[in-house]
Amino acid sequence: MCGIVGYVGFREAYPILIKGLKRLEYRGYDSAGVALLDQESDLNIYKAKGKVADLELEASKHDINGNIGIAHTRWATHGEPNQVNAHPHTSESGNIALIHNGIIENYATIKAKLIKEGITFKSCTDTEVLVQLIEFLQKGHNLTLAEAVQQALKKVVGAYAIAVIEKGNPDTIVAARKSSPLVVGVGEGEFFVGSDASPIIEYTNKVIYLEDEEVAIISKKDGVRVVSLNNTEVRAEISELALSLDEIEKGGYPHFMLKEIFEQPKTLRNCMRGRVSKNHKNIVLSGVLDNIEKFKNARRIIIIACGTSWHAALIGEHLIENLCRVPVEVEYASEFRYRNPIIYKDDIVIALSQSGETADTLAALMLAKEAGAFIYGICNAVGSSIPRITDSGSYIHVGPEIGVASTKAFTGQVTVLTMLAMTLAKAKHSITQEDLTSLISELDTIPDKIQKILELNDQIADIAKIFTYAKNFIYLGRGYSYPVALEGALKLKEISYIHAEGYPAAEMKHGPIALIDQEMPIVVIATHNGMYEKLISNIQEIKSRHGKIIAIVSEGDETVKALADYCFEIPSTLECLDPVLSTIPLQLLSYHIAVCKGKDVDQPRNLAKSVTVE
Ligand code: GLU
Repeated sequence: MCGIVGYVGFREAYPILIKGLKRLEYRGYDSAGVALLDQESDLNIYKAKGKVADLELEASKHDINGNIGIAHTRWATHGEPNQVNAHPHTSESGNIALIHNGIIENYATIKAKLIKEGITFKSCTDTEVLVQLIEFLQKGHNLTLAEAVQQALKKVVGAYAIAVIEKGNPDTIVAARKSSPLVVGVGEGEFFVGSDASPIIEYTNKVIYLEDEEVAIISKKDGVRVVSLNNTEVRAEISELALSLDEIEKGGYPHFMLKEIFEQPKTLRNCMRGRVSKNHKNIVLSGVLDNIEKFKNARRIIIIACGTSWHAALIGEHLIENLCRVPVEVEYASEFRYRNPIIYKDDIVIALSQSGETADTLAALMLAKEAGAFIYGICNAVGSSIPRITDSGSYIHVGPEIGVASTKAFTGQVTVLTMLAMTLAKAKHSITQEDLTSLISELDTIPDKIQKILELNDQIADIAKIFTYAKNFIYLGRGYSYPVALEGALKLKEISYIHAEGYPAAEMKHGPIALIDQEMPIVVIATHNGMYEKLISNIQEIKSRHGKIIAIVSEGDETVKALADYCFEIPSTLECLDPVLSTIPLQLLSYHIAVCKGKDVDQPRNLAKSVTVE
C-alpha cells in the first residue's frame, strides 16, 4: 500500500521517479505526487488526484528539473484521496518534503500538540503530522535533517516507510522504516529508494534492505550511512538482486493479470525446480528438511494468512491433514492477532503472504514467535519482512506478481503447501513410498496440464460475454474444491465488482438456495473426485430452480455436462492436486468478465497489493 520512490545522483530525477511510480502503482493509485529539488535548490512539488498519468499531466506544466527527488503513489488510509491529501507533504515553512507508507497511529495526539504550538495543517492525513513534527524538532533543537527525523520517529507509534528531502540540501535523502518495506539501491554515484526493488532494478542490482527503526542517510557525495534511531552506526549489508526487467513488464499482454495467468506453467515449474526429485521418490524442501524434527513433533500446525493466501491456506489444511495426519488450523491473521490465541511451544505457525509484507500476517507471526512457536514463512518477495523474521521458510519462486488480483502466487502457494505436506508425510511415514511416488509423478505433470487448460481461453472469453449482466454469482465446491470456490468468487468480486459468494455445495440448502432463480449464475467445481456423486445431487437442486450452471468438469465427463448450461473440461488429476487446475478457468472467467465490463483489471478500485497497513 502506497508506493514510494526516491533518487539522488547525477541524472535528471523526474523521469526515474515517474517510471518508478508506474512500477509501484500496483501498491496504490488514488493519487500521486513528486517533490524535486532543482539547481537553485528550490523545492518543487506537484500532486494530482488519480493515477501516475494524471500526475505527469500536471507536472508537464511546470519545472521538472533536478537531480534529487522523492515521489509517491497513494492508497489512502487517513483523509480522502484528493490533491491536498496526496503526498509529498510539507512542513510549516515549506522547507521539508516527506512521503510515507504506513499509518502514524498516534497522529491525533501529536497533531493537537503541534496545533497548540501554532502550526497549521493543510491536509487530513496522518502523514503530515510527521513532517510537521520533524521541522518542529529541527527548529527547536537546531538539528540536522537526519537528527530531526530520528527524534521524530522516536515519538511516533505505528508503521512507516518514509523518504525526506530538504530545501538547501540538494545532496541528501533521509529514509527510514518500521513495519513497512523500504529498499535502498546503491549505484555508482547515484542512489535510489523504493518500496520494492522494481523502480531500482534497471540502474543497479545492489540493494540494502533496511531493518525496522533504521535510518538511511543517503548522500550523493558520501554514499549510504545506516544508523539506528539512537544514532548508533549499523553495518548495512549489500544484497544482490536476482530480479530481471522482463519479469516486471507486460511482455505483449494487455494486462499483467492475463500475463500472470498464462505464466503459470512456467512459474510452477520454477516453484518445483530443484525440489521435485528426478526419480519422483522424494521432495527436497530444505526449509522443512532442515527442521524435520520440529515438524515431526509438532502438536499442530496453524496457518495464518489474509485474502487469497487464506484460501491457499485452506487447501493446505486439507493436504497436511490428509497426508500427514497432523491437526491444522487456518486463521485470518487480522483475527488471530487480536484474539488472545492459544499458542503452544510445539506448534508450528506458517505464514502465507505473497509480498511477505502483509501487516496483519507479520504481526500475527510476531505474536506466535513471542509465544515460542516455530515460525515458518511461505512468501514470494525475496528478502521481504516475513522471510527475515521467520525461523525458516520456502519461497514460492513465481516471480513478481504485479496484477492486484493474485493468480500465480495463489497456485505457487498451493504448490509449496503440497510439497510441504509430501515432505512431512514421508518423514512421518504417514504415506507409503508407492503412494508418494505416484503423487510426486502427478505433481510433475501439473504445469503441462495447466498449459492445456489455458487453451480454453477463447471459449471462456465467449462465455464471459454472456454474464456481464449478472449482479450476483454463486461459486460452489466440496472438499478440496470448496476453497477453490471461495477463491473464484473473490477473484470475480475484486476485478469486476460483481457480488459473488463461495459456498460449500452442500451448505447451499441452508440459505443461499433462496437466491437461485433463472438469472443467477452458479459456478460449480464438479471435477471427478470423491465428492462427485454428492455434488451431482447439489447440481440437480440448482437445476430444479432454474439457476444458470457453469461447471468445471474433468475431461470426458458426460453426467454434469448433461445438466450444466456451460462446461469447461480440464485434465484429470489426483484429488489433492485438483485445486491448482480447477482454479485456472475461474481466473480466466473473472478476467474476461471484468474486461467485458470495461473494468481496470490490474488496478481495481479501492484495492492495492501488498497490504502493509492493518
Ligand atoms: N497513511 C498515509 C495516508 O493515508 C499512507 C497510507 C499508506 O501507506 O497506505 O496518506
